[in-house]
Amino acid sequence: MRVTDIRHVAVPLTGAVANAVVSFERHTVSLVVIRTDQVRRGRPVYGAAFNSIGRFDQAGILSGRVVPRVLGADPDALLRTDGPGLDPAAVRRVALTDEKPGGHGDRAGAVAAVELAAWDLNAKLAGEPAYAAIARAHGRPVPRDPRVPAYAAGGYYGDAGTAAEQRAQLVAELERYRAAGYTSFKIKIGGAPLATDLARVEAAVAFAGDPERVAVDANGRFAPADAVRWAAALAPYGLRWLEEPGDPLDFATLGAAAEAFGGPVATGENLFSRQDVTNLLRYAGLRRDRDVLQMDAGLSYGLTEYAAMIAALEDAGLSRAQAVPHGGHLLNLHIVAGLGLGACESYPGVFAPFGGYGETPVTAGEIRVPDAPGFGLERKPELAAHLDRLTA
Ligand code: MG
Repeated sequence: MRVTDIRHVAVPLTGAVANAVVSFERHTVSLVVIRTDQVRRGRPVYGAAFNSIGRFDQAGILSGRVVPRVLGADPDALLRTDGPGLDPAAVRRVALTDEKPGGHGDRAGAVAAVELAAWDLNAKLAGEPAYAAIARAHGRPVPRDPRVPAYAAGGYYGDAGTAAEQRAQLVAELERYRAAGYTSFKIKIGGAPLATDLARVEAAVAFAGDPERVAVDANGRFAPADAVRWAAALAPYGLRWLEEPGDPLDFATLGAAAEAFGGPVATGENLFSRQDVTNLLRYAGLRRDRDVLQMDAGLSYGLTEYAAMIAALEDAGLSRAQAVPHGGHLLNLHIVAGLGLGACESYPGVFAPFGGYGETPVTAGEIRVPDAPGFGLERKPELAAHLDRLTA
């Protein structure tokens, strides 16, 4: 097998929303295709993936560094030895030629998109869904009827209006998620004064009927003292988790907020390497029995690195059920099913065309992972149109 080309396109996110820190109105994502000389059922086989959601496209790093390195490598050095297709670890290694260690930023997303496209390719060559290829490659049983718990992430700040009108908008949003089959929810905090946020949380808990069905996400907004103040004020509610109260790299503040909050804290979507996660596990004072880790393969060099993060987490005495990746899309749905992780995020109605699981229905808070070959990105019509152009 030979790689014949690697193409990519920057696709704008639509259905844009804002959290306490970032507006996604101008955000883009790199959709990557690895083309090959392989043919199945009369059609050329390619691998496709993208750099998750939330970090902009990586056109420059892809065109200037990653793609030329992979296309210029010894083709045999990229191949699997245990089956047809590419060795994702080799693709990652070649893509990082001459890159210094540390400082894991945007290049982690660029490499991830290509590495994950190799997983899509391998699954398609084997004629199986990505979760099966992922499970097998990691020595895990292939799930027979993979159902992944998914929570609806949203709970955005509404348009202008009184605090009561905004709470009504919040509940109306959660009602839409429940009607779509979700039973647990995550709402934003940190974009309003504490008293306003607490009233929002109370409205969400009253709607959900159980505080364990409501998580809150500050998107790293708070200064250290505020992170602890919000955490202490939220402690009595018994929520599912408190996500990223302070700067994602401020492990001491996370530890202090975790202590004040008592319940689970969630973090990790802004850590892009195994070493960063090891430091988190060493220095943030996470609790083995409760905290939640949200690293995202699409932001962090792909599945090879992500699996090493999961191993680091288990080495530290946590369970892989505590891994709940950021990024509500098909790539992570398959990864959660294939690696036997805890749950998936979902962003109903936003971050199109990458967010969401295609036509797959949500039933009682669970998603049945589709059995289309690979990650099944072709199932999403807006993505299929881009894939047609990249593979033409
Ligand atoms: Mg988050």
